[in-house]
Amino acid sequence: MALLDIEGVSVSFRRARGWFGHERTDVIQNLDLSINEGEIVAVVGASGSGKSVLAQAIMGILPTNAKLEGRISYNGEPLTTERQLHLRGEELVLIPQSVSYLDPLMKVGRQVQPVIRDSGRKRRFMTRSHMKKTEQELTERYQLPRGTGEKYPFELSGGMARRVLMATATSGQPKLIIADEPTPGIHPEVLAETMRQFRELANQGAGILWITHDVTTALTAADRIAVFYAGANVETAQVDDFTGNGERLRHPYTKALWNALPQNGFQPLQGSQPLAGQEITTGCSFALRCSSATVSCTRERPQLRQIRGGEVRCLHAT
Ligand code: SF4
Repeated sequence: MALLDIEGVSVSFRRARGWFGHERTDVIQNLDLSINEGEIVAVVGASGSGKSVLAQAIMGILPTNAKLEGRISYNGEPLTTERQLHLRGEELVLIPQSVSYLDPLMKVGRQVQPVIRDSGRKRRFMTRSHMKKTEQELTERYQLPRGTGEKYPFELSGGMARRVLMATATSGQPKLIIADEPTPGIHPEVLAETMRQFRELANQGAGILWITHDVTTALTAADRIAVFYAGANVETAQVDDFTGNGERLRHPYTKALWNALPQNGFQPLQGSQPLAGQEITTGCSFALRCSSATVSCTRERPQLRQIRGGEVRCLHAT
């Protein structure tokens, strides 16, 4: 049984149109993905492919104009709104993209304290010894200057605030970590340390969904890579599949991403991803950019298939 199971999930947003009308914009379409205990799954793809919306859907923090369809299960049970509320901040944590998630009115040290339950209510440890331990951890593990715990978020640089976000999310015993682009602007040494911490948490049994546009770093730390394109996972591959000219990869877009890396010849992919809401009538959303496209690719929408130990949405993958 997977720790997190996402089956046929679609997310759309309702927007006003004209004076009285409205329209729906599809951002994620029919997504399937699973994460096991002890596993790091990196979700990679261009901006606008639906990666961050997926994080919000799992955490239960989608905007009110969003509509979610499909099924998300955690530990074999549906991840309902009530369960999300109960688990969030304890077993289920988010390392968000924006540092604005930090409480601007609370000192950093207090925000990093693990959440505990007291008579059913969530609160944070506040004892002197915990505060001292936190200060030590911020200095040694996250390489923040001594005294950071006594500062407010507005007194931190962007890179420092990101490290505090990491510390906040991982201070308890999380079982499922959703990390949404947690590393931009982080010093390479701290990046390496972050990756080491992810692995340490995974070795302790946590599942980690790591959203990133940095394929190279993802390949150094993840177990599997899920590739997003236009709101769907077009391939899920083992890290070892990313080798040579990409001949072990299954989807033309994944191969293009791999071959666009500087170390692989920097071969750019022409064209751009369809915008959210841009209508892809019946065929493959990648057809206009795909050098392997055939007539059937414009008529039939590829479904997710298991091939060679991975998953792919391509009619012609073998
Ligand atoms: S289904 Fe066709 S267009 Fe889509 S990725 Fe496969 S070969 Fe290319």
